[in-house]
Formats: sequence, C-alpha cells, structure tokens
Amino acid sequence: ASREMKHDDTVIPLAQGTIGPKTFTLIAGPCSVETEALTLATAEHLVSRGVKFLRAGAFKPRSSPYSFQGLGLEGLRILQKCREKTGIAIVTELMDTEHASAVEEACDIIQIGTRNMQNFALLKRVGKCRKPVLLKRGMSATLEEWLMAAEYVMAGGNYQVILCERGVRTFSDHSRNTLDLSVIPPAKALCHLPIFVDPSHGTGKRAYVPAMSLAALAAGADGLLLEAHPEPDHAMSDGAQSLDFAALDALLARLKALAPAF
Ligand code: PEP
Ligand code: MN
Repeated sequence: ASREMKHDDTVIPLAQGTIGPKTFTLIAGPCSVETEALTLATAEHLVSRGVKFLRAGAFKPRSSPYSFQGLGLEGLRILQKCREKTGIAIVTELMDTEHASAVEEACDIIQIGTRNMQNFALLKRVGKCRKPVLLKRGMSATLEEWLMAAEYVMAGGNYQVILCERGVRTFSDHSRNTLDLSVIPPAKALCHLPIFVDPSHGTGKRAYVPAMSLAALAAGADGLLLEAHPEPDHAMSDGAQSLDFAALDALLARLKALAPAF
C-alpha cells in the first residue's frame, strides 16, 4: 500500500465509473436493504441524479443482537435485482468468510466494516476475491494499523483496495464518532490507495452530514459513502444519520459546484 512500492495513485476502473484521484465518486443508499421496493426506489433516484454506486447492507453488524440483523441472502438477491434493473453498481458489507462467495458474486465492491478491520481471516479471504474492497477504518485503529489491514488484502493478490474513514472513538459525545478528516493528508502521503469518507457514521446526525461531506472533499478525499433513505425516520437502521432525497439532492448540488468531475 506504500508509495515507496508504487508511487502513482491506484485507480480502480469499474463499468459505472473510475475510482481515483481524478474523479470524485459518490456511493449512497440506505444503511440496510429493507425491502425490494425501497431499495429499487433509492437506486432509481440515485441513477436519475447521476450517482452510479448504491450502498446497502444485507448483513448488518448491529451492536445489539436484538436489533434488525439484515435480510442476508435475500438482501443480496434484492441488490442484484437493483443492478439488473438500473445498472447501478452495488457496494455491500461482507461480515464473515462463510458468505464471501455469495457477497462477491452479488456486488461490485465488497465492504469490510469497522468492526472487522482486523478480522485477519476475513481480510485474507477478500485478498482472494476479484472485486474491489472498501476497507473501513477500525473505530480505534491508527493509520498504520489501517494500512496494515489493507496490506493483508493486497498480500493475497487483490490490489483494488479503497480506504474509508468513518470516524473514531473519542471522548466527544456531540457526535456518534469523531470524523478524522486529518487522517486524509497523511494517508495520501504514505499510501497510493483511494480514500473515501463516510460522514454518516462519522457524525451520526444527518444535520451535520453536508458540512462534513464538503470538508472531506476539501481535505482530499476521492469520494463519499453516504446514507440516504426515502423516509429516514422510518429506517430500520441508522435513520438519524440518513439524508432524505431532498437533502441528498441539495448536497449533490453543493458538491457538484466544487467538484465538477463527478
Ligand atoms: C455501514 O456502513 O452501514 C456500517 C455498518 O459501517 P461501519 O462499519 O463503519 O460501522
Ligand atoms: Mn449504517
């Protein structure tokens, strides 16, 4: 992952768009796959606004075992249907090695969540996958630990890794996590991989998502992972940090004014 090994920025070409420093890529969608109708409506809205990557979890790592755990394989089927109908690229989380083949087949980018950033068996398994991996930063991981996690994936032969800052644990309680935008310049200096920012999990509150999205772009991020839902107050997970479509459209207009390349 180091620039000492490879000086030039890694660029990840996908049918829906190229991820790298010359483009600013938006990935948006609900926290979870809830129903086919809702996921498809979201995908259609995104495509109509030029957003070509849909995020939604079929396997959900919830803090409580009694919370909604995701639709599992049925969720993957819904995501594939959204891709077939709209052409949108699918980004979805893989939580365990058992489901690696199913998730790899259903998606275009495999997400590894913050809680699994140092699940070395899982990192080794996605190192054998042929789809890009979006590697979220562990909630208490240093930059070096995060880059070493990327190294686990790359050591297996999969060089298509995207880093994603999603906030770290601090003493602050005004936000769900502390979005560490200050990690972007050193990450870019040390490492050639694309870096994304997730201001939704980073703040936990939808009102603060636009400001932190614009700040991420200004700090040098290559893209954003945003939670968006047609009716955030009725979402089955993370509604408080999800933008509704009007708020998403307003943010897209502000981002477009600053980053015409997306
Ligand atoms: C998510 O993106 O829905 C998610 C669970 O993120 P994180 O792993 O950053 O908590
Ligand atoms: Mn979420």
